[in-house]
Amino acid sequence: MKAYQILILALSLWIVTPVFSQEKYAVVIHGGAGVMGRLKENKEEQQKYLVKLEEALLLGEKLLKEGKTAEDVVVEVISVMENSPLFNAGKGAVFTAEGKNELDASIMNGATLNAGAIAGVRDIKNPITAAREVMNNSEHVFLSGKGASEFAKKQGLEMVDNKYFFTELRYQSLKQLQKRLRERSNNDNTGTVGCAVLDTRGNICAGTSTGGMTNKKYGRIGDSPVIGAGTYANNKTCAVSCTGHGEYYIRLGFARDISALMEYKNMRVEEACREEIRKLSELQGTGGVIALDAQGNIAMEFNTEGMFRGFIKSSGEKEIAIFKK
Ligand code: ASP
Repeated sequence: MKAYQILILALSLWIVTPVFSQEKYAVVIHGGAGVMGRLKENKEEQQKYLVKLEEALLLGEKLLKEGKTAEDVVVEVISVMENSPLFNAGKGAVFTAEGKNELDASIMNGATLNAGAIAGVRDIKNPITAAREVMNNSEHVFLSGKGASEFAKKQGLEMVDNKYFFTELRYQSLKQLQKRLRERSNNDNTGTVGCAVLDTRGNICAGTSTGGMTNKKYGRIGDSPVIGAGTYANNKTCAVSCTGHGEYYIRLGFARDISALMEYKNMRVEEACREEIRKLSELQGTGGVIALDAQGNIAMEFNTEGMFRGFIKSSGEKEIAIFKK
């Protein structure tokens, strides 16, 4: 090859390469939906949430730029929120009626339709990592209680004493609730966390992690660890993570129904999420959802006063918000 031919080849590669290397990516997260009572007037407190949501999103973006998979990013982003006392997941989990913390989490990979979930665990520091271990390193999809903990320990995950999950705020929520003996529409659970990611290979993944609902009894498990209710992902349609009154989400098969609306009714992701929230409202359930599709279209819908939420995209678009616009 002559020198001028090499030069032309190098020049055309230099022009063309950026066009192909600008693969799309997107991260969308939630930190729970509900009544924002104590937060409404407190700008300083709101700021703490906005800063943590931004930290999680920026970490997700950094990892995607490094070429990490959607699955890796979902786990890392959710772990950031699990490690914060602000959210009802991991460290900040709400209390059961007997004053313990029992955690649930799930993850689903949209490229393979593999899924993993754990429920009712008391000693796994980052439940989302255990959900991923179930997905990748067991022949099961859903493990619960002591068995799930035993499995997590065997996989070498970080285990903690249940006391690690003690936070004064959540404990006071339990005490106040028990005093009021308000059985229905308990709004002190806000803070379940979730994440959906589109990676630079075009694959999507979703995960959800929660402490459940304050004052829960009898081993109650909500929608968050239930694949198809609180979490779902399929490259053909969307990746979804939900937050809200779990019983309603289970009854609706909420996350899977959004995927079905897209697959069978050709709805766009935002349209499908709106339709599902409409069904939730019809049943008088409350909550929200985040989702994205393999093109990086984002949806963040809720029927509550607010939802901690945010997204970041390769296009440069970014949003972080708590209240309705
Ligand atoms: N969905 C969770 C549950 O029912 C709680 C929440 O998202 O606020 O356990």
